[in-house]
Amino acid sequence: MIGGLNSMGSIAENLRKVNENIALACEKAGRNRDDVTLISVSKTKPVSMLMEAYDAGVRVFGENKVQELVDKYEQMPKDVHWHMIGHLQRNKVKYIIDKVDLIHGVDTIQLAEEISKQAVKHNVKANILIEVNIGDEESKFGVSIQDAYKFAEDVYKLPNICLRGLMCVAPNTENPEENRKYFQKMYKMCVDINHKIGDNNVVNILSMGMTGDYQVAVEEGATMVRVGTGIFGERDYSKI
Ligand SMILES: *Cc1c(COP(=O)(O)O)cnc(C)c1O
Repeated sequence: MIGGLNSMGSIAENLRKVNENIALACEKAGRNRDDVTLISVSKTKPVSMLMEAYDAGVRVFGENKVQELVDKYEQMPKDVHWHMIGHLQRNKVKYIIDKVDLIHGVDTIQLAEEISKQAVKHNVKANILIEVNIGDEESKFGVSIQDAYKFAEDVYKLPNICLRGLMCVAPNTENPEENRKYFQKMYKMCVDINHKIGDNNVVNILSMGMTGDYQVAVEEGATMVRVGTGIFGERDYSKI
């Protein structure tokens, strides 16, 4: 897609389209639409655009930078749910620990320990997802498939941490079908980890699928999809 020259509609129209696609994917897979949460990824976008989405009914936003999340948190209505979807630095955990519903990208024990420490300090439970480098790509964050099980067990034990599931950023590809095998693998891992350590089925969130591949992700069991471009249009990083 080329920014500005594609057929993007208004934010409300884009949202309708994305929600329609999610519903279709659910139907195709025999899943309940209510089992999939759409996270509107608003990184780099101005508050005015977030408000446009808010007015169209969006209450769940995803951001990947701590400062940006905190700024928007302060400006947006209080019934918004914030998800930290990006790589989180340990020294910044303290700024968001009491502001986010879910931290998606936990991939080191040091980060998990810091989240635990801050959660205890602020007297909150921190919901986290383990990021898995499912495509085994050097450029990506996340624990390896082999390490994921042991890591889940270690993280699970930490005070005030609530391990809720897994997250991945699948390889960037033109053809979303190429990612189907990765989404299937993620689903299987999530079920396995849930059986192994999850009491009361709390390890049941699978965050996968972005603008290019969210329908396939939903077909393969995603319970959260993170869509940015498909809702807000292309991002312009030159202005940041
Ligand atoms: C930016 C981002 C997204 C959204 O990507 P789009 O392709 O614009 O939908 C999803 N997940 C993560 C972790 C991101 O950083």
